Amino acid sequence: MTAPAKIAPATLAKLAKLGIHHRSDLLLHLPLRYEDETHLAPIETVQPGETVQVQGTITHSEITFRPRRTLACRLQDAGGELYLRFLNFYPSQQKQLAVDRQIRAIGEVRMGYYGLEMVHPKCRAVDEETPLQTSLTPVYPTTAGLSQIALRKLIANALEALPIPEHLPKLVLERLNLAGFAESLHLLHSPTADISSHSLETRSHPAWRRIKFDELLAQQLSMRVHHRERSQRSAPALPPRKHHTDALLKNLPFTLTQAQQKVCGEISADLTKPHPTQRLLLGDVGSGKTIVAALAALQAIENGYQVALMAPTEILAEQHFLKLSDWLSPLGITPVWLSGSLKKKDKKLAAEKIASGETLLAIGTHALFQEQINFHRLGLAIVDEQHKFGVQQRLALHAKGKNNATEKISEPHQLMMSATPIPRTLAMSYYADLDVSVIDELPPGRTPVITKLVSDARRDEVFERVRAACMTGQQAYWVCPLIDESEVLQLQNALETHQLLTDTFPELRVGLVHGKMDSAEKVRVMTAFKAAELQLLVATTVIEVGVDVPNASLMVIDHAERMGLAQLHQLRGRVGRGSAQSLCILLYQKPLSELARTRLKVIFENTDGFAIAQEDLQLRGPGELLGARQSGVAMLRYADIDADEDLLEQARLVADELLRDYPDAARAYLQRWMAKKHDYLHV
Ligand code: ADP
Ligand code: MG
Repeated sequence: MTAPAKIAPATLAKLAKLGIHHRSDLLLHLPLRYEDETHLAPIETVQPGETVQVQGTITHSEITFRPRRTLACRLQDAGGELYLRFLNFYPSQQKQLAVDRQIRAIGEVRMGYYGLEMVHPKCRAVDEETPLQTSLTPVYPTTAGLSQIALRKLIANALEALPIPEHLPKLVLERLNLAGFAESLHLLHSPTADISSHSLETRSHPAWRRIKFDELLAQQLSMRVHHRERSQRSAPALPPRKHHTDALLKNLPFTLTQAQQKVCGEISADLTKPHPTQRLLLGDVGSGKTIVAALAALQAIENGYQVALMAPTEILAEQHFLKLSDWLSPLGITPVWLSGSLKKKDKKLAAEKIASGETLLAIGTHALFQEQINFHRLGLAIVDEQHKFGVQQRLALHAKGKNNATEKISEPHQLMMSATPIPRTLAMSYYADLDVSVIDELPPGRTPVITKLVSDARRDEVFERVRAACMTGQQAYWVCPLIDESEVLQLQNALETHQLLTDTFPELRVGLVHGKMDSAEKVRVMTAFKAAELQLLVATTVIEVGVDVPNASLMVIDHAERMGLAQLHQLRGRVGRGSAQSLCILLYQKPLSELARTRLKVIFENTDGFAIAQEDLQLRGPGELLGARQSGVAMLRYADIDADEDLLEQARLVADELLRDYPDAARAYLQRWMAKKHDYLHV
């Protein structure tokens, strides 16, 4: 074993960009693919589309200027010839590729104007004796300024210099029939020529499986360790006192569904524990999560602790504020409102009430967790539509939790709510540190929303339909399209649509709400719509989450083909909340892309959010469903939770076993895979 050579600071900075902070991280930086320089292909046998290595003599070399400056060479071997072309080249390359030189070139073959050619092949000068490589050449993920050659050298050095201990206990290794760790790393960094390139590409080779298993195991361990650490920290125990909660239940115009009762029980048990709990409450749009949140809040309040309820948009936060004020003020509890757009003076006033502990319930946007806000004794933080929050906001919430003014050591409990169900494999991996509750039934008496797909050519009929509905006392939403993700264009479209509908229906009271409105204005419009002073509400997608106006029974979604499945499902969930039969019209414009057609079909055929989320996972992959978790949680580099579900299952079991029987091994795993990431793991 040789002593590791020093790495230059500039190189270190580049390595850091690749997530390589320790020399040992180099070992886990595995190839994306390989180039085969272990044998030579006779030119007469090569086919367009193949990536091959050929060797021959340069028989022609010139710089042409049309259509642009190009170095064009002809390479000939015993049986054939092909062209090598370089659009950007150095004088040294031109010299290297002079006539009569022996060259070895590797690249993709394609059919050019003059016959077979390689564009920008990798070339080197050789003679008859130059040996071929004995192993496949790894191609690593890299970053600007760090060449493959330099990276290969660093990794090869690390492989030689560093010990690679086997952390998996022998018994486990044998039972699972996995390849050794060191052996797998060596193989993946330089596979010999006889290894099936298919098994490397598809990552099904036993060496890949071992690495993926280890990665999944490390993720499981970190999730569990986090869960366990949490259970060693302290939080206020907030047992049910049944005083306020019973009073609220008695005043409600409905009784809780079975599913609501079940999750309320789970949350209530959480709050009773003397350590901080984190629960994710999943329930489809309209399943009644708000009342569950209110009951949880009351349990904390009954114990004299403060509660913060945070929602991702002002409109939604405002609705929660109104609804909870309505529910709780008869009990003598007055929530305080806080959002970024409050006047400075009002913000200060709210902050004071929160800091003094005078208010027990604060409702608002992420402004609740900004630096100036200090809670007196925060017992529970509730985050609605948690997938809509960014990582920064979750970090802020986390930090705030650790910073109760009076009880420095005590953290609040956390309840997160979402209408986006998580498929099983995601729940088993990225969400493994959370407890999950599901509301799996809708309140009774809902008539399912009828969905209609209507081509834009029939827009006039839709107008008439809207008018007719409003004239009979119903209320309607007109949702304006997304335009190239541009808020400016979306706003412009909303303004124009509002004008058009106002002009078309002089007999109707038409309102407008959009994201760029100041919040007082937004609230004024929503309140007017809720009070049925407005009959038709033109809206941008700001109403996507949480808006609850039971009397609204018609929704038109303009250019529905531009929206994603989750968004369409959320929007449609804004109607069908009262007893009237509701209708959702998806206006679409042809021609439809394949993807848009599939989405519209799925939303037309399904009303169940879970089924829709499953389809969404198929269409988009897990990345987007992860939402806010995505950049916070240790992302898997090699394993694919769906394709490697069997490994994931095993890793779950082994994680328990290591923590129980081999704590040193567990620690070594976390050190190897998570040393840097641990801080960011759980936001
Ligand atoms: P979401 O889960 O989408 O946040 P909400 O909490 O906004 O759903 O509830 C949707 C509507 O259903 C609200 O008007 C709410 O008052 C009502 N609701 C909630 N629970 C019940 C129930 N058990 N029975 C009848 N209506 C209910
Ligand atoms: Mg909601």
